Order: sequence, then structure tokens, then C-alpha cells
Amino acid sequence: MSQVFDSVSADRVDIDTFMTNKVPLPVATKIKFMNHVNEEHQDELAMFVEAFANTKVGDELMVQIAEVYRDGLLLQTCAQPLASLSIDDLTNHHAKHEAVNRYFIEFDNLIDETVTIKSQYIHLLQVASKKLGKLAIKQQERYFTVVDGYYASPNMFRLIVTAPADTPLNQAGYAYLFEVNADTSNTHQPVRPQEKLQRYYTLRKAWQDADSQTVYGWIDTYIHGDTPGGNWARASQTGAQIKSVRDYPEKVAHLTDGQCLLICDETSIPTVANFLEEWHNPIAPIVIAVTNDAADLDYLNNLELSEQLTNTSNFKQENITHIVNTTDLDLTDTILSTIDTCLNDNAISIDKVWGALEASDAKTLRRQLKSKFSLPRQDMVMKVYWRSF
Ligand SMILES: Cc1cc2nc3c(=O)[nH]c(=O)nc-3n(C[C@H](O)[C@H](O)[C@H](O)COP(=O)(O)OP(=O)(O)OC[C@H]3O[C@@H](n4cnc5c(N)ncnc54)[C@H](O)[C@@H]3O)c2cc1C
Repeated sequence: MSQVFDSVSADRVDIDTFMTNKVPLPVATKIKFMNHVNEEHQDELAMFVEAFANTKVGDELMVQIAEVYRDGLLLQTCAQPLASLSIDDLTNHHAKHEAVNRYFIEFDNLIDETVTIKSQYIHLLQVASKKLGKLAIKQQERYFTVVDGYYASPNMFRLIVTAPADTPLNQAGYAYLFEVNADTSNTHQPVRPQEKLQRYYTLRKAWQDADSQTVYGWIDTYIHGDTPGGNWARASQTGAQIKSVRDYPEKVAHLTDGQCLLICDETSIPTVANFLEEWHNPIAPIVIAVTNDAADLDYLNNLELSEQLTNTSNFKQENITHIVNTTDLDLTDTILSTIDTCLNDNAISIDKVWGALEASDAKTLRRQLKSKFSLPRQDMVMKVYWRSF
């Protein structure tokens, strides 16, 4: 079970003595993990402090992993950086700023050749989410069987699959980490663990057949050339078994009320499509959809809206704005000016944000929207869904 040493409510000398006896993990083992989590998973670190130290971290503070040890994480809270800081400044921010509080969160198992930091971090996530009554990542094997495959729009390939009986039917954004080079034929050639390639794909929609009770789902994959994810989807023939090793519930609980802004590209459009089919929030959302091919907007135009949104006059025409991305477009500037136009035209303000884009765009936009809307941490979700190499 995770233990916490709190430098404020516990004896400060105790945590300092406790920490001086510890040897941090070598830099090569931890640096990528620390940078990634510190930049992109602030909300999870704040959740650890809330779950294990019973302390809510105010929005004026940020939580950082200050160090990683074999047996746990040292977290510290410090003042939020100014939104205008560059990425380099942000990376060095925690080193430059006085820690406000420190917390040591103990792993379930010691890190060694067989136990990874990632596995221990995911375990902490599961324990913390459970404690706070939130949906958590599940490390479990799931098997789906391909029934059919076709293009849902010019560049979106849809697999129809049968899914395990306990698959969530109404949780928009629920995703799975698929092994995309596993053998799906009947020859079952083993794939060596170091060669395994994994990609997240969202359960675009799930439903249960009333007669057979079989659960069916759609998995929509953006096809953009010769890449492992797209090749896997297109090569998955009827009858093939596809395997996921992790369930990932998307962070969407904040969207149930208030004026929401949804921002997606081809990788997150399946999640937004599912939101719009399941939308019960009395206020219709503003949607910004970015695609490389204008024809992929058909993907949203063709969907069946929730009853709530069907009763909103001209929802698709007035609330969905489409941006066609090109190599010379400054995407985040274009998204920001599109938001400004929507807000001015409709005289509204934004209460909640959910978006998922490419890593550098997501990071830039997250900073810009944070300073623009000053939303609490839990109401401002801007995710990284893919990385440009
Ligand atoms: C929680 C979650 C849910 C997701 N759900 C979906 C989903 O439902 N459908 C879906 O299609 N994707 C989804 N993604 C993203 C998906 O996992 C990535 O698109 C995938 O990693 C890209 O894999 P790839 O094998 O096609 O390309 P990679 O091997 O990642 O990249 C190969 C090359 O393609 C470029 N590239 C990769 N992605 C894009 C892109 N989107 N646009 C332009 N160039 C690109 C890269 O820069 C690189 O040069 C999700 C991601 C997350 C984290």
C-alpha cells in the first residue's frame, strides 16, 4: 500500500532524514518518464496527493515528480509557472522554484530488472483512482474478433468487432492499447516481447444485440500512409482476433454540465463523435474538428446526434467548426482565432475544455487555453494522442 510522508503535517526533519538515506535511480532510467509525467500528467500527480495525503492541490500550485527512487516517487508542489513561459523554461521550472510541500509515495514493488517505473506508476494510478471513486486504467488482456472492415470516411477505416461481454456501452472515449503486430492469423507465430508494437484506439461505439446478447463495437483508425496502426487495422480480416493489453477510460467526467469546448483531430474525432451521440449536458458544446482532408468532416456530419443535440437547432451547422490542416498553417493560432470568433458571435464563455491533438500542438494549446480561460485543473483536459517524428 502506498505510504505518504508529508513535509508539512508530518515532522519536516523526518522526511529530510528519510530522504537522505535514499539513492535516486540512475538518470537514464527515469528522465524520460519524469519529463513526460511532469509535462503531461499534472492532473494525475495532483490526484496522488489528494488520494494518499488527503490534501487537495490548489490550482495556483503545480505538482512535480522531484525524484524517483527504487521504492517510490518524491512529489513536490510549487507555484504555477506563468502561462507565458516557454517549454524549456517549464522543464526547468521545478528546479528553480522553492517546493511548497513534499510527499513521498511508496511503490507496491521495488523497481528492478523486471519491475518498471511505468508499471508501478500505473498501479499507483489504479489505487488512487479507486480511493477517489474515479475510473482507472486496467492492465488486462482483452480479445476482440473482427466481423467486418470498411471506410467510414475517406481516411477513417472502421473495424466492426465483437467485444467482451463486460465492455462499457456508454463511456465515451473508452480506449484500448492494442498490440498492432501480434499474429492475428491462425498460424500463431510468437512475437518477441521487445518487438511488440502497441497503439491506443478508442471504442468509437459499443452496443449489445438484443437477441444474441453479443456486444459489438466500432474501432476507427486514421489511415495516413504506411504506418503500423493503419496497416494493422487494414490487415485485420474477418475472423481475426485482436488483442488489447490495457483499458484506458478517458477523462470526461467534467463534461456533464457547463459550456464545453471540444477540440479534436482525426485521432480524437472518434471520441468526440461518441460524445455527441451520448450528449446529455443541457448546454450544447462548441466543437472544433481539425482534419488534413476536408472530406473527413463527413465523419461528424453523418453521425446520429443525441436527443439533446437533435433538439438544438442547426447544431451541426452552427456548433461544429472545421479546420483543414496544411503544412504551412499555424494550427494552434488558427484554433485560438476560431475560438475567439465562436465566443464573440455567440456571446458565451467556456466552462470546460476537452481536446486531444499531436504532442507539441497539445502542449502549446494547453498553455494558451489555460491562460485564456483560467479554468480549474479538472475542467481543462488537453491530451496528447500522437507524436510527430
Ligand atoms: C487514448 C488514445 C486514444 C486514441 N484513439 C484513437 C482512435 O480512435 N483512432 C485513431 O486513429 N487514433 C487514435 N489514437 C492515436 C493513435 O494511437 C495514433 O494515431 C497512433 O499512435 C499512430 O500510430 P501509427 O502507427 O499510425 O503511426 P506512428 O507509428 O505513430 O507514426 C508514423 C508516422 O506517422 C505520423 N503520424 C502519426 N499519427 C499521425 C496523425 N494523426 N496525423 C498525421 N501524421 C501522423 C508520425 O509523425 C510518424 O511520422 C489514440 C491515442 C490515444 C492516446
